[in-house]
Amino acid sequence: MRLTRFTDLALRAVMRLAVAEGDAPASTTREVAEVMNVPAAHMAKVVARLQHLGVVEARRGRGGGLALTGLGRRASLGWLVRELEGEGEVVVCEGDAPCPLRGACRLRRALREAQEAFHATLDPLTVGDLVASPTGPVLVGLVGRGPVAD
Ligand code: SF4
Repeated sequence: MRLTRFTDLALRAVMRLAVAEGDAPASTTREVAEVMNVPAAHMAKVVARLQHLGVVEARRGRGGGLALTGLGRRASLGWLVRELEGEGEVVVCEGDAPCPLRGACRLRRALREAQEAFHATLDPLTVGDLVASPTGPVLVGLVGRGPVAD
């Protein structure tokens, strides 16, 4: 199973935001994009989706910027990945050229179960678990090298 790039970028963003608080400068979409070495336009779409899910909020005023919400800190990683990936299956059985086995395929069922097992493995984890050492200290020390081209 392979995550979409969109989901991967979203997980990178929430990990960065999880360590970018306290006395650290406020995070912006541009800053997160540069630190994570991705185009700002891509990260803007990711941040918008995370805001829609209630995982990230944009705080206004002095000291404002992007921040994880309480939900973002507590949420199950399995839930977040399911929301970001959608309901799609790992194999395309329908579509323009549907597979003739699709109505009675044991492989399809096995792949669905494998997909659910993949998500279930992520269920007990939170963003906080992802930024424990050694990842957290590395995230804190990351510095952007300027805008990344689309
Ligand atoms: S063989 Fe089964 S899993 Fe593969 S495309 Fe056909 S129905 Fe889907």
